[in-house]
Amino acid sequence: MDEKALLDRVPDGLFIGGEWTSGSAGTLSVYDPATGDLIKTIADASPEDGARALDAAVAAADDWAATPPRARGEILRRAFDLLQERRDEFALLMTLEMGKPLAEASGEVTYGGEFLRWFSEEAVRIAGRYGTNPEGTGRMIVSQHPVGPCFLITPWNFPLAMATRKIAPALAAGCTVVVKPAALTPLTTLYFARLLEDAGLPAGVLNVITTSTSGKVSGPIIADPRLRKLSFTGSTEVGRSLLKQASENVLRTSMELGGNAPFVVFEDADLDKAVDGAMLAKFRNIGEACTAANRFIVHEDVADEFARRVTERVNGMRVGRGTEEGVTIGPLIDSDAVDKAAALVADAVARGASVLTGGSRVEGQGTFYQPTVVTDVQAGSDILRQEIFGPVLSIVRFSTEDDAVRMANDTEFGLVSYVFTKDLARGQRMIERLQTGMMGLNVGVLSNAAAPFGGVKQSGLGREGGLEGIHEYLSTKYTLTPDPFGA
Ligand code: NAP
Repeated sequence: MDEKALLDRVPDGLFIGGEWTSGSAGTLSVYDPATGDLIKTIADASPEDGARALDAAVAAADDWAATPPRARGEILRRAFDLLQERRDEFALLMTLEMGKPLAEASGEVTYGGEFLRWFSEEAVRIAGRYGTNPEGTGRMIVSQHPVGPCFLITPWNFPLAMATRKIAPALAAGCTVVVKPAALTPLTTLYFARLLEDAGLPAGVLNVITTSTSGKVSGPIIADPRLRKLSFTGSTEVGRSLLKQASENVLRTSMELGGNAPFVVFEDADLDKAVDGAMLAKFRNIGEACTAANRFIVHEDVADEFARRVTERVNGMRVGRGTEEGVTIGPLIDSDAVDKAAALVADAVARGASVLTGGSRVEGQGTFYQPTVVTDVQAGSDILRQEIFGPVLSIVRFSTEDDAVRMANDTEFGLVSYVFTKDLARGQRMIERLQTGMMGLNVGVLSNAAAPFGGVKQSGLGREGGLEGIHEYLSTKYTLTPDPFGA
């Protein structure tokens, strides 16, 4: 596909009240991280533009809430169908602005699209309850209602899926939205807004603002009493600051934040499966996933063999621009991400770890870091505390199950954990003992639109996807009526 022709088709304006408009703060440049080249210039929103976007979402709120659930669901279903038709375009666009290999970008189109299909089906299943109160003197009605206008903030690492995972349940529930994608990867969201327009979404239901000053533009939206919900995916640091802002109006929030996933390999694990799982859990999305395995906690009896096998697999990976055939590791998002990976490896080595392969940045154009394996990482190393967000697999050893649990839980995060064992009872014990919102038991990838995605501890609040996902955008109302028989 012609890259330039695709980029020309992507809108370059803000999408407010069904109109594509310029930004009053000028323009914003988007670059290809594989080359450093400018790929498109788009509108840069000011705080006033942000206010206009919220005005549009507020103006459209009542009509959208009153739109029959079936009609809302059918628009989402049409969006799902259109996404399948435009699959190659969305995949290429994500590779161009974010860097992930094309095959993985196509996988994200599948994953991201499933939220449209799932919530098109959930729109018509918003249920309530009706029953007699315990005293028998009245009838209790519990009903669900759209929360109201929502502000959705998404990160750069999954430009499509992080948007659909919020937009689809919000629209299904009857909420209108203002979406703010990351300045590094705004094009996919703009192209998706065009798709929703084509699917027949009424003006004002979805509004998109792109900005180089996210804090300045978001602040007034969050402070506006007409806003009813903030849903954020991104770092724990920014999430914490947004929670403080949201507390002023006691705003409902969903927070999908950072992770520090343990990947525990017991001595009885099927090592072939553990290695397959490790490659997916670590190197998918160039390691830039909140679900990326961050700490490989491997039993001392199998640690050397596990390290040997993953190193062999890593040596077979190919680094390059994601559009090239056979590339499995694209560029990191920017030079800060490369510096961070380099610093974490340097710190681990200074504290006694050994590099088995990789361990350095790739010189030349683009922001690449070699896929890397470090072993014998020592307690206290930064790499065990911080989210690596890059293609670095770090191994620590353990000797007893209690040690493994203690090490796995030794983090303020609790998004996802991976466990490999053939012992069913041990697997069940780990489900109960690990402090985590999600767990992969003998699998290295588990995200699914039909499952509740989210974390415990400082990994966040709320769930996206599954039966739970739509409830983030609904509020519960309880009504009592007298007993109709006069009791
Ligand atoms: P980030 O720096 O926290 O940014 C996330 C989003 O917040 C972007 O749209 C960003 O816009 C915006 N933002 C930054 N500062 C803001 C502020 N003061 N006010 C309002 N918005 C602000 O995170 P990131 O680097 O894009 O993404 C990586 C992080 O996301 C990792 O920690 C990862 O674990 C997490 N993540 C979590 C999940 C999950 O489901 N739990 C999924 C994916 C990613 P600008 O970039 O334009 O400033």
